[in-house]
Amino acid sequence: ETGSIIQLSDTLLTDQPAPVLQPRTHSARLWLPKRVLFTPDALQEPFGQQMYERAQAHNLEIELLKSNRLTGLPGADVRETYRNAKNTLAVVCAPPSALKLQPTPPSADWQMNLAEGCPAHCQYCYLAGSLQGPPVVRAYANLPKLLEATAAYEQAGRRTSFEVSCYTDVLGIEHLTGSLAECIRYYGTREGAQLRFVSKYDQVDSLLDLPHNGHTRARFSLNAEPIARRLEGGTASVEARLQALRKLALPRELGGGGYPVGVVLAPIMPIPEWREHYTALLDRLAGTLDFDCDLTVEMISHRFTPGSKDVLLQWYPNTSLDLEEEGRAVKRNKFGAPSTCTSPTTCARSSSSSSPSGSVVFPRPQFSTGR
Ligand code: SF4
Repeated sequence: ETGSIIQLSDTLLTDQPAPVLQPRTHSARLWLPKRVLFTPDALQEPFGQQMYERAQAHNLEIELLKSNRLTGLPGADVRETYRNAKNTLAVVCAPPSALKLQPTPPSADWQMNLAEGCPAHCQYCYLAGSLQGPPVVRAYANLPKLLEATAAYEQAGRRTSFEVSCYTDVLGIEHLTGSLAECIRYYGTREGAQLRFVSKYDQVDSLLDLPHNGHTRARFSLNAEPIARRLEGGTASVEARLQALRKLALPRELGGGGYPVGVVLAPIMPIPEWREHYTALLDRLAGTLDFDCDLTVEMISHRFTPGSKDVLLQWYPNTSLDLEEEGRAVKRNKFGAPSTCTSPTTCARSSSSSSPSGSVVFPRPQFSTGR
């Protein structure tokens, strides 16, 4: 069976009272990779030059590569390769194929990737098994050209949406790339387009004054406190994400960013006392957004494929993530074949983007409530 496997929520229902968990409040630590690589082509790009200056400003060790190929990334074993990769930022030019966009329903009309790879360490990571090679963060120096190419995908008479979080956490790398700000400014000038991003990081101050013109929806991935604590390494606490959401949603006259916002509740897991934990999360969300704002809510259940499970168990051999297949259901695509997608993601990946053939369509996210 190669399908995506989801867990049935009724298997873990319980009447036990939920333990009180004092919310953590820490911000995400700024990601400062040990290695920053620049390819020759990336340094030719004015936007690549800006990234070079950012890396210098953060006193990072910079290596100028002789060719446009990334080499020397694998370590002695999978764990070392993982550690090295998560400590490496490679600034490269996206290949010409990146100019051809892929649809990404239901998150958005199209995916537009400003980078691939993520500095965080979520033990259920959606990128496991879907990105090729070591999980290095590759940031695209030719971003302005990629953005211009998206204009051809705008459809007359409606606002076309572009998702930039399919393969990275855009806020987690923003201090070294400036790529998200570049996208927000660009789509702020496009009447027929909307930008969407989602993050588990909280450094949003540099976004507050950008001319987004209401064309960017800023979303945060949230989860029940025990899941975020246990499984989302390197990210901001849920409380810090809520405060970042509040900052971006507050009207400009009150000192906020005035953005349309959203929350992505993902991946939802039927942990013990899940009702209490998710209710507490929604109560905190309601308390955080105690003013009128333009808010969307997306919910995505936890799922994995045999391939992603293998990769995750190599990356996190001691994980407490429930990857048991017992009591789970196989998710099928609209043709009845097993879906190969792990999830449309916190990072907004969709089925069609994750299927190697591009032919698998993932059903609208839903929390499975029974057989
Ligand atoms: Fe993976 Fe998303 Fe977590 Fe990054 S934030 S490690 S891409 S699940």
